Amino acid sequence: MTEKEVMESAEKTLIHVYNRFPVVFDHGEGVRLYSMDGKEYLDFASGIGVMALGYNVEPYKDALKDQIDRITHISNLFYSEPMEEAAKKLVKVSGMDRVFFTNSGAEAIEGAIKTAKKYAYKRDGAAGDEIVAMQNSFHGRTVGALSATGTDHYRTPFYPLMGGVHFAQYNDFDSVKAACDDKTCAILMETVQGEGGIHPADPEFLRKVRALCDERDMLLILDEVQCGMGRTGAYFAWQNYGVKPDIVASAKALGCGVPVGAFLVTEKVASSSLEPGDHGSTYGGNPLVSAAVSKVIDIMEEKDIPGHVKALTPHFEARLDELVSSHPSVLSRRGMGFMQGLVIREDVKSVAVVAEALSNGLVTLSAGGNVLRLLPPLVMTKEDIDEGISILDATLKEFD
Ligand SMILES: *Cc1c(COP(=O)(O)O)cnc(C)c1O
Repeated sequence: MTEKEVMESAEKTLIHVYNRFPVVFDHGEGVRLYSMDGKEYLDFASGIGVMALGYNVEPYKDALKDQIDRITHISNLFYSEPMEEAAKKLVKVSGMDRVFFTNSGAEAIEGAIKTAKKYAYKRDGAAGDEIVAMQNSFHGRTVGALSATGTDHYRTPFYPLMGGVHFAQYNDFDSVKAACDDKTCAILMETVQGEGGIHPADPEFLRKVRALCDERDMLLILDEVQCGMGRTGAYFAWQNYGVKPDIVASAKALGCGVPVGAFLVTEKVASSSLEPGDHGSTYGGNPLVSAAVSKVIDIMEEKDIPGHVKALTPHFEARLDELVSSHPSVLSRRGMGFMQGLVIREDVKSVAVVAEALSNGLVTLSAGGNVLRLLPPLVMTKEDIDEGISILDATLKEFD
């Protein structure tokens, strides 16, 4: 098929929930993508923060091929060595104690919410506990995760959603405190809001929320689906803050391209929440995806990917700040590590900038609040940054 035929056929057969950009990527190499018609692109999007190690990574591919030759699925009724290894490595880099593997980020959030509710149920001997989540957040598209997503246009058509979720203002401790009452069992937030427009948590805000949770025996659930796995220069973004959650949700870069997520808990939570019969998943952490998680962590540790991100962040930020000062179409920059957003002037649509950058050979993303969102592969070099910045520079000139 030609690139055009693929696009036309897909528009007829797929449910139209995405307005896709007019390109069909065929393969990738390192931080570059190639379309069916052979055009090369530099990737500053990583398939929405998934392909942290870049494309066509030999040891990763070999690990998956070996696992395919052995066994890909066995269900959670049996033990599996790949899952045990993946869990051990994930526990080590996170500092959490126990893990449950899921198939997506949304499902990791679902499990996190259930865990918090069960914790409160066991403590109080009664159900009815509620959670506090943040405005402008994004936790996924399933009904539970959507119920905790504080962005109206994702929610409104699907009411009534799960009850018992109250929303507070992100980075406003008084608002969080006011939203909590004696029924609140957990506070849920992204450590760095992604879809909402790249808003990192204020260190003081996060510390105060942690202290409030400790004071009232509420659980702090951090959603690190997008900001975790090395993206902010640490394995998990909270590690930059010196604050530890009780429950954390992960996915996206966790498997670098296979569908896998996880929620992790401390021993305190594990020992008094979910029990046999409370939760499960047919595929969750099957041997194939577990082999991927295991190899991803091995490679991240061998190459010190968080250290690499930390070392290059000042350069990346400085180059982005140059764009802010030289382009009237860019108002400001926000971000942490290789998770950066440029706030685009209101009369210019950030998706239009994304489309134009794409036609200039750079893959980027948009986010809420008219933000141009950049989530490059974490293996990106200084030269790749400079190349991407010069494409952005040329692209933004068209909008100034
Ligand atoms: C992407 C994302 C999710 C949902 O993950 P899926 O794998 O798409 O279900 C949840 N939380 C955050 C912060 C995300 O960025």
